[in-house]
Amino acid sequence: MAMGDLIERIIDRLHRTYPYAYCDDCLALDLMESNIERVTIAASEVATLDEFIRTRRECSRCGQTRQLTALR
Ligand SMILES: [Zn+2]
Repeated sequence: MAMGDLIERIIDRLHRTYPYAYCDDCLALDLMESNIERVTIAASEVATLDEFIRTRRECSRCGQTRQLTALR
């Protein structure tokens, strides 16, 4: 998946699942992207947009507290 597509899909996913938030590993599973490092890069890019934030928070899927990207 191209990085731009990955970023678009993460934004779409976060809008659809708000107010829930997912860690990079769970986002990778949802988006069927096997390279988690690319998801972390894309999710960090998404977090530079005004409506998003990257923070330590509990993942709504796996329950682990991790650095993740969420809607503000
Ligand atoms: Zn998770």
